[in-house]
Amino acid sequence: MGLNIDYEHLNQELKDTLQKARPAPPSGFVMAKLDEAIGWARKYSIFQYPFVTACCGMEFMSVAVSHYDIDRFGAGMPRFTPRQADVLFVVGTINHKQAPILKRVYEQMCEPKWVIAFGACASSGGFYDNYTTVRGADKIIPVDIYIPGCPPRPEAVLDGLIMLQAQIQQEGYMNKRKALRKQGLKELHGQP
Ligand code: SF4
Repeated sequence: MGLNIDYEHLNQELKDTLQKARPAPPSGFVMAKLDEAIGWARKYSIFQYPFVTACCGMEFMSVAVSHYDIDRFGAGMPRFTPRQADVLFVVGTINHKQAPILKRVYEQMCEPKWVIAFGACASSGGFYDNYTTVRGADKIIPVDIYIPGCPPRPEAVLDGLIMLQAQIQQEGYMNKRKALRKQGLKELHGQP
């Protein structure tokens, strides 16, 4: 006499049991807290890449001295390869010959990444109204924060950095950041 086993029924029972045993996905509260924690960690561990081309560089250096001490904000460590940097500081005038280099440096940085335009020249071309000068770094790459001044005071630089940190805290996950970045690039370069 053969044994009559209902495999279909058994399979369904096994599936139901596994479904019940599976842990529930994290709630909105947990995800929100995780988002906050990631933002907090990111904003206080900034590795910066200084792209220094002109006189603003002197004031940029002064922010690192003990009187202003940019290290207090977790942003004191410069990296001299864009692949290890989170924040690109564009410091000084950008001319058309330098523009492709700046774009390449930006493209070599990993996500998530941010850009600060340091001073009037990097923000808008400054007073160089001529055919050699790019009228602001945002003509080449997306810029997150603009620091005014010719050159900016160190206090203004720290103010800009604090604004960027607030932005980093709000942005949360990589995906959200990527979406924003893609949108920015689309608008800048008219990419599909
Ligand atoms: S903003 Fe002023 S200090 Fe800075 S690079 Fe331009 S001219 Fe020099």
